[in-house]
Amino acid sequence: MSIVGIDLGTTNSLISVFTDDGPKLIPNALGDYLTPSAVGLSDKGQVLVGQAAKDRLVTHPALTQARFKRYMGTNWSQKLGRKHYRAEDLSALVLGSLKRDAENYLGETVERAIISVPAYFNDTQRKATMAAGQIAGLKVERLINEPTAAALAYGLNDKDRESTFLVVDLGGGTFDVSILEMFDGVMEVRASAGDAFLGGEDFTDIVTKYFAEKLSPKQASKLDKMSAKKAAMLRDLADQAKAKLSSEHEVSFKFIDDKSVEQTLSLTRAKFEEISEGLLKKLRHPIQRAVMDAGLRAENIDQVVLVGGATRMPVVRSLIARMFKTFPVHNLNPDHVIAMGAAVQAGLVSRHKALDDVVMTDVCPFTLGTELSIEVAKGHHEDGHFQPIIERNTVIPVSRSVVNYTMQKGQTSIDLRIFQGEAPRVDNNVYLGQVNIPIPKNMKKHEAVDIRFTYDVSGVLEVLVKVLSTEKTNRLIIEGNPGALSKSEIDARFKALDKLKIHPRDETVNAAFMARLAKSYENHLGDARKDIQYLIGVFEAALARQNKHEISEARDEIEPHLQAYEDRSIF
Ligand code: AMP
Repeated sequence: MSIVGIDLGTTNSLISVFTDDGPKLIPNALGDYLTPSAVGLSDKGQVLVGQAAKDRLVTHPALTQARFKRYMGTNWSQKLGRKHYRAEDLSALVLGSLKRDAENYLGETVERAIISVPAYFNDTQRKATMAAGQIAGLKVERLINEPTAAALAYGLNDKDRESTFLVVDLGGGTFDVSILEMFDGVMEVRASAGDAFLGGEDFTDIVTKYFAEKLSPKQASKLDKMSAKKAAMLRDLADQAKAKLSSEHEVSFKFIDDKSVEQTLSLTRAKFEEISEGLLKKLRHPIQRAVMDAGLRAENIDQVVLVGGATRMPVVRSLIARMFKTFPVHNLNPDHVIAMGAAVQAGLVSRHKALDDVVMTDVCPFTLGTELSIEVAKGHHEDGHFQPIIERNTVIPVSRSVVNYTMQKGQTSIDLRIFQGEAPRVDNNVYLGQVNIPIPKNMKKHEAVDIRFTYDVSGVLEVLVKVLSTEKTNRLIIEGNPGALSKSEIDARFKALDKLKIHPRDETVNAAFMARLAKSYENHLGDARKDIQYLIGVFEAALARQNKHEISEARDEIEPHLQAYEDRSIF
């Protein structure tokens, strides 16, 4: 049974599925991919969804609702006919309509879905989206952030390459910028920024104002004086002019003004760019912030992905081209990208063969760790302390390790207890399981064990404990949802994560960097040695935290200092 991907948008919604040929959009009953996110009641009280409802927005405003996504998770509700509807009820009606379209198209019942949400949606808004799915009879397997979906739709072509994406999403009323990184098939969000009050509609407003001034240059506030109907018509015209300027260099329209005089209104692309200057400046700021927050520079961005109808404007594209000295990719339709990405995620969840080497990501919502005994006084240990190994909000899949020592010399086993939670003492955390590790009797020194936690997106934790002196390994599998995966499936998934199980210290680039630091230390004396030792300490600390980005930043920071010492080596 298929899992569908759904882009539940403010203006339009789409449904998609992952097939052997990749992500595919599913047309609605009218043959369109875009179903307007509008709900209404017919004169007979029948529920209308999509285009049929949108068409009645102007003629039957009291019986029609649109743009309700922004009220998700709030107490807002609106009366349609005799009933009150909350945003999740209206969204559920849109979802139900998409579900039926997919069922007709696929010829099977559709019960499971991935739904996209804006990255800035908070927990309440996300829960409301899940609830809308439930009301529509869909089990929401997972929500996917819209920029992640966009990057997934593009990233697939490039899954073998490390790639940094900037996703620019300019919709009707909101602007979102995200930076994502794809490495080893893992997609990770590095930074996001945006402006909740900036969108394509602001460009329409600017053109409307420009036209109003053209109609009557002497009265700057002409719009206010215009009848509401004329003002709405002028805005509609401005919206069309704006969209037309995306493919033409000049547009002109006839407009019958309030005095029934026909006037010609025209606008060139150059003039449009000039009057949008203020808005373009506002677009620049969140882009720059996201790049800075990710610790990157413009030249580090490999691909700029455009999402949202308003990114069709050439002024937006050339702004980005100027900022990044690269043309944004747009071989996918910006209206379709998110739904395509949601389909890829659906393919990942259903473990489609074509996606075997792409790993989906999520964050681990809680900390995972072990019990630790702490020496409180010489020879006196106290059990029950919590040792975090994978901290909450770490992007998963993830693999982290620590080295622990036996408490006593001659100790012949360790009982390692595993917990999840945030409390400093294990009693207040959730017990997950335990593993007994036989230790060779060593009266001379404490034995060391390497404890490695690998946590997969399906909620399975693999604990590997290696006794360093014998290299013998014990393994424990803890399933978040026991029985969901077979033993061979679990083994295959953790095998696929082998790449993650290398400690950054042992990765070639880091080992080589450490060797250079050590060599420099050897080659110098006195204060220089102290400096280099400090650099080694900084790098060691970054390695110990096992965070790829932090380590790479530490290398970049240390490099010029190390280089300086290498250049004035005394030997
Ligand atoms: P979305 O919410 O992503 O559908 O974006 C809607 C916004 O995109 C609206 O402000 C539209 O006016 C704008 N838009 C749609 N198509 C175009 C186009 N061809 N050129 C410029 N803006 C467009």
